[in-house]
Amino acid sequence: MNIKANDPSLKSWVMVSAESDFPIQNLPFGVFKTDYLTAGAGVAIGEYILDLTYLHENGFLDGLGLPSGVFNQQYLNSFIGLGKKITRKVRNRISELLNRENEELRDNKPARELALIPIKEAVMLMPVNIPNYTDFYSNEHHATHVGEMFRDKENALMPNWKHLPVGYHGRASSIVPSGANIHRPKGQLKPQGADKPLFGTSKRLDFELEMAFITCKENGMGNPVSTVEADEYIFGFVLFNDWSARDIQFWEYVPLGPFLAKSFASSISPWVVTADALEPFRTKGPEQIPEVLPYLQYAGDKNYDIDLEVYLQPEGEEENLICSTNFKYMYWNANQQLAHQTVNGCNLKVGDMYASGTISGAEPGSYGSMLELSWKGTKPLKLKNGEERKFLEDGDAVIMKGCCKKNGVRLGFGELRNRILPGK
Ligand code: MN
Repeated sequence: MNIKANDPSLKSWVMVSAESDFPIQNLPFGVFKTDYLTAGAGVAIGEYILDLTYLHENGFLDGLGLPSGVFNQQYLNSFIGLGKKITRKVRNRISELLNRENEELRDNKPARELALIPIKEAVMLMPVNIPNYTDFYSNEHHATHVGEMFRDKENALMPNWKHLPVGYHGRASSIVPSGANIHRPKGQLKPQGADKPLFGTSKRLDFELEMAFITCKENGMGNPVSTVEADEYIFGFVLFNDWSARDIQFWEYVPLGPFLAKSFASSISPWVVTADALEPFRTKGPEQIPEVLPYLQYAGDKNYDIDLEVYLQPEGEEENLICSTNFKYMYWNANQQLAHQTVNGCNLKVGDMYASGTISGAEPGSYGSMLELSWKGTKPLKLKNGEERKFLEDGDAVIMKGCCKKNGVRLGFGELRNRILPGK
């Protein structure tokens, strides 16, 4: 697919540093507010937010099929629900307006000053209202590590794992944006050797490094979406932290899977990087053996080459890089996940969120959870300040970052940062 706004040679008249996640080739959508502006949609460029409400109300986005008021809203749902034909036109038009050759905004000082808002003056909000949330379990390294820890090395993967993208329906109401504090959850715990459970604060609080995609189209009940059609349903991606209380999980998860160990919080990066912007970074997925059923087969490159990092920062201390991995290590891709989600006729909503499952690589240091990094608490991580961590402590911040590089273009997801507070 040839998307105008992805041209690596494009440059903006807005200053964008080489390390910025938001060059003109990215143009991610988000929802922000300031002291003087109510919640509305914007696009990130360098250190600025381009205010889409202002552009739309002042005629800069005319002729694109946009209904009035579509950006002056708390969420992006109405906008992304217009479909990718229109949202792609809008992204291309924004690219045009920010192009250094284009004088429309560049040379219109009053408009330029009202349209560009420094990111540091804004608060980023949830980009979408999320009707439904699914968490998959689609990374073979992670699933194998967990299987090795809790079952045995020879039968690490369950018999179904290579035949379908395993997942569960998660809790949409507790998904929060970067910056939100996470209170340590309480629940039933059954320490090893105890004969009955006790009630208490989780001692094994963990993060899970994931990516999530957001859907922008409805299929209607009874209508499966194929792996080919899936591209029209996937608007974009965010970083996703699937916070997990391992001790609660361990006691509650048989036989129906995760429940309260997960539903206390998940968090996302606030900028939605469009699938269009990620198009140049598509890469081949792993060979799937045994061959999957026809409805899960796909053609073309459906994985993405996105470098991912996790940092742990004890309160008031330095950041420690604890995980470097890549989104390309997924066994099941987003198209397959969506085809599987809908094969039974389940209906998708605009704004639904589908998380990938913990993203781990093969090597220690590329594991996407404390559970794996500390190998169930048996190999504590050493931090720069001399402390050790098996799981997360109160005051710890977990920071996730993601970026893609190709043909001289570097684009990223911004930061996903949340701090752990004591249980309430
Ligand atoms: Mn998860």
